[in-house]
Amino acid sequence: MEIPGPWRRAAAGAGLLAPDGSIASTIFAEMSAIAARTGAINLGQGFPDEDGPREVLDAAVDAITNGVNQYPPGIGIPQLRHAIADHQRRFYGLEYDPDREILVTAGATEALAATLLALVEPGDEVVTFEPFYDAYGALINLAGGRHVTVQLRAPEFAPDLDELSRAITDKTKIILVNNPHNPTGATFDIATLTRIVELAERHGAYIVTDEVYEHLRFETPHTPIASLPGASDRTISISSGGKTFATTGWKIGWVMAKPELITAILAVKQFLTYVNGAPFQPAIAVGLGLPDSFFETAAATLKAKRDLLSAGLRTAGFDVFPSRGSYFVVADAAPLGFPDAVEFCRELPHRAGVVAIPLSAFYSDANRGQARSLVRFAFCKKEDVLERAAAQLAGMTA
Ligand SMILES: *Cc1c(COP(=O)(O)O)cnc(C)c1O
Repeated sequence: MEIPGPWRRAAAGAGLLAPDGSIASTIFAEMSAIAARTGAINLGQGFPDEDGPREVLDAAVDAITNGVNQYPPGIGIPQLRHAIADHQRRFYGLEYDPDREILVTAGATEALAATLLALVEPGDEVVTFEPFYDAYGALINLAGGRHVTVQLRAPEFAPDLDELSRAITDKTKIILVNNPHNPTGATFDIATLTRIVELAERHGAYIVTDEVYEHLRFETPHTPIASLPGASDRTISISSGGKTFATTGWKIGWVMAKPELITAILAVKQFLTYVNGAPFQPAIAVGLGLPDSFFETAAATLKAKRDLLSAGLRTAGFDVFPSRGSYFVVADAAPLGFPDAVEFCRELPHRAGVVAIPLSAFYSDANRGQARSLVRFAFCKKEDVLERAAAQLAGMTA
């Protein structure tokens, strides 16, 4: 039976709708299934294989034990909204009113969904970099928007600022910026972020940020776009606790913006999930209040893992591109004699006992060719797992 409806737009936006109208399973599902079947080391999906800080885990257990198990307030518990406001002041000097300018969501994903559904009219353009986090394409299309992309190319994955300027026009409703960037590990310099603010001002566009890797940067400190001159009124900033505190299953995210924008986003959010994660909200509040040393150690530990896996990939014969943030590094399989990353990733579990994701999973249909032989590897895994993966890749059979 053929089911009509907007779901097709979501599937098409994520590049999953086949010409015959069937929906393909994602490469993530396919690769995770291969990993489970073969016992290969899964460097495909970006979830940590170790728990986050004890204080954060204990706070959730305490909350459950102490009866924090019913619907929390629609905008999130006060303790978490205050912790988010304090965090923005402490790290970035940004001021948000915890009662009117902060909204807790079911992860960054719901924050993105509610924001796009609240603001995008059919036909409005939403500009993102490409490759892009796959949910962006699905959500923009579900909202009826037109997805316009600006290419990030190896080795630096930095946008060409002229190309960026041409992509943003009076039809642009939102410029959606993920920094640090999944899947490339790129971080964008101040010149790029400043240009985005200028273009948004010139064309009356909103800026939506996805900063879920804000604390997982390896070279330079994070600058939220909202902190740049002229940006705060038109910027909707999104982050979440999953990546920072290694609690990706908890789905506690948040949106920060001017009160009128929060009101609009809340109007949609309250009919998506209404609320979520009551006992996890106070726990993430504890995490946001941890001393600087926690955040420094989290970044330094992950940086060492990046170095370990990057070196291993280089030894195995890949071209490896710099990762400056996130859980991910991109490598080129072409020097190993593989011009096509999809084929390479399907064979990799059998040749080396490792699973990775072809970068093509993060492109629109029209631009998938750009991904060629590029592969994304996750390094948010235990050191011995990364060492084993590196050894297996180095001994790869042809
Ligand atoms: C993981 C991830 C998200 C999703 O965050 P949740 O808080 O789990 O919803 C959003 N954006 C990017 C770029 C991510 O890597």
